[in-house]
Amino acid sequence: MVELPAGARIGELRVVLIDRLRRAGIEEAAIEADLLLGWVLNCDRAGLVLAAEQPLAEPLRQRLQAALKRRESREPLAYIMGEWEFWSLPFAVGPAVLIPRPETELLVEQALAFVRQLQRPPGGRYPWRILDLGTGSGILAVVLAREIASAQVVALDRSPAALAMARANARRHGVAEKITFVGSDWLSALAARPAFDLVVANPPYVCRSAMLTLQPEVREHEPHTALDGGRQGLDDIKIICRDLPAVLRPDGLLLLEIGWDQKTAAAELFNRNPAYRQTEIINDLAGLPRVLRCRKEEC
Ligand code: GLN
Repeated sequence: MVELPAGARIGELRVVLIDRLRRAGIEEAAIEADLLLGWVLNCDRAGLVLAAEQPLAEPLRQRLQAALKRRESREPLAYIMGEWEFWSLPFAVGPAVLIPRPETELLVEQALAFVRQLQRPPGGRYPWRILDLGTGSGILAVVLAREIASAQVVALDRSPAALAMARANARRHGVAEKITFVGSDWLSALAARPAFDLVVANPPYVCRSAMLTLQPEVREHEPHTALDGGRQGLDDIKIICRDLPAVLRPDGLLLLEIGWDQKTAAAELFNRNPAYRQTEIINDLAGLPRVLRCRKEEC
């Protein structure tokens, strides 16, 4: 393990970092070098440019060295920094939860479009009652609670460690009082009452055979319980499809993240179930199928 040079200027260290990350097989080496340096110096990219000629203080160099060592062994940057951005907000993350993916912002956009189009739930009821299934770090629950003034969110997860992290993120973003956290294996702990206007979920959907082909960061560090969706990747999606009608109000909306190759299988599953209508698949910015959107029948 070659030490980062002591007393080097920040601009020089940046060049060394990019080179080291590249050699470790990391594609976005320049972006990651800036994120790591910014994290150590507690500044943004503009701050890094301004600090380029300054030497890095020794305690910070040691911190950077330790982080680089972890990153070279392909631990995800998000876990090393303990934080990752979603919807332009910082979220605490750790190995108990999946790292937020930018694709999941599509789910938020769809949820907000639905809410804004209707203004409020039909029938004039307030508030918006939203359920986030498998909340993980809480990104969906927190962002929806922030964006929708009248939101009342239930965020559930079967992992106590995930719930603790989601709770901390809700506090950090000032929405803890709008979210109720529930320990539950999918819908098992919820009363069978059609209480929710909108349900969002990013369940595990990776096929078991594809788990081995994932990047080492994902395969070796992220929680398999949040990724592995069984033989066809549909095990959890099937449970949600089966059990959700009991808690979704008539005409309520489900937004479900799916894998890019599950368009047909997932749509078929919901089309076959008479509790749902208007099943559509929405593509992400890369043009890949990403979100299943459907309504519950009106009665
Ligand atoms: N999109 C994630 C990945 O490809 C999978 C997320 C999930 O299973 N919910 O790593």
